[in-house]
Amino acid sequence: MSTPPLSHAAQASYSDLFFRLLEPAFLLDAGSLKILELNNAAEKMLGGSAADLQGESILRWIPEDLRAEFQKQSRVTLRRYHPRGHETRFVSGDGHERLFRCDLCQLQAAEGATPLLQLIAHDITAQREAEERAENYLSELKSALVELKSANDRLREMTITDEMTRVNNFRYFKQRQEIEHQRSVRFKRPYAILFFDLDSFKHYNDRNGHPAGDRLLTELAQLLKRSSRETDCVARYGGEEFVILAPETSESQGAEFAERLRKAIVAAGFPHATEQPLGIISASIGVASYPAAGGTPDQILKAADEAMYRSKKSGKNRVTTFGVMDPDATEKP
Ligand code: GH3
Ligand code: MG
Ligand code: MG
Repeated sequence: MSTPPLSHAAQASYSDLFFRLLEPAFLLDAGSLKILELNNAAEKMLGGSAADLQGESILRWIPEDLRAEFQKQSRVTLRRYHPRGHETRFVSGDGHERLFRCDLCQLQAAEGATPLLQLIAHDITAQREAEERAENYLSELKSALVELKSANDRLREMTITDEMTRVNNFRYFKQRQEIEHQRSVRFKRPYAILFFDLDSFKHYNDRNGHPAGDRLLTELAQLLKRSSRETDCVARYGGEEFVILAPETSESQGAEFAERLRKAIVAAGFPHATEQPLGIISASIGVASYPAAGGTPDQILKAADEAMYRSKKSGKNRVTTFGVMDPDATEKP
């Protein structure tokens, strides 16, 4: 589709518009892409006078790798009525490269004459730079946020973790037990607490040194963690004592769990085991559960501690349940 020829009046006002336009404007020969006319802004853009620039191909100011694209856009423009916009770069006479959005459209001056291309170039260098700055800023902000989140996660991890053994600390355990207790009361479900105390640990320290004692505590804590479910909470109560909170677990199920752990500790092959009074590394364990052992979190914890103490008294390396201490206590899962 071609544009209708311009009337005389239209040609006059077009010419006025063309030369007064604040944006650089060119009339190009559609075949050769030579500059036929250009306005003041266009002279400034390329860095030369109209006399020097007329007759030169516009491609001279376009970097080599972008010329084919400009030629293609020009060809397509000749087949269309509406203006086409595309981005390209121009290198001005003083060597400065800038980014332009080029609006190309065809003009047919007179019957039989070669079609003309009108090129209006909008300098979008500053706009693009601002966009890129905003994008960089956004991506920096995004990575700062990701870093902040991971620092926060690490900080939170630190506040709930025992530094040496890397299981949870007792403060966190208390919070978890409080939540689990409320849930168990609300839904009438049981939960169990296992209380561990290493046997003859003072002997271990005295014989093998405090650092070896530290390593044993850490390895033991990790064994407890490995042997527990994701939903259990393993924590260091303090010193050589550990506790496990086992949701949805009755006293007898807790006792089975404790017995499995007792055997795992003995079988773990910890260093210097044979030098211990019992010839093994072992723990005395107490088990108590809600609701059999009481109605408050503290009562359940205390009952597990007392059951552990019973294990100590009756020869260590064993599991005692609250039910054994208090035969009247019945399981009400
Ligand atoms: P029992 O079988 O009756 O539990 O005897 P035990 O020696 O384990 O118990 P006792 O309470 O007499 O001693 C506990 C020891 O645990 C004493 C203390 O120095 C040691 N201990 C507590 N915390 C740590 C620790 O972080 N690292 C080391 N290496 N030892 C610790
Ligand atoms: Mg102790
Ligand atoms: Mg001990």
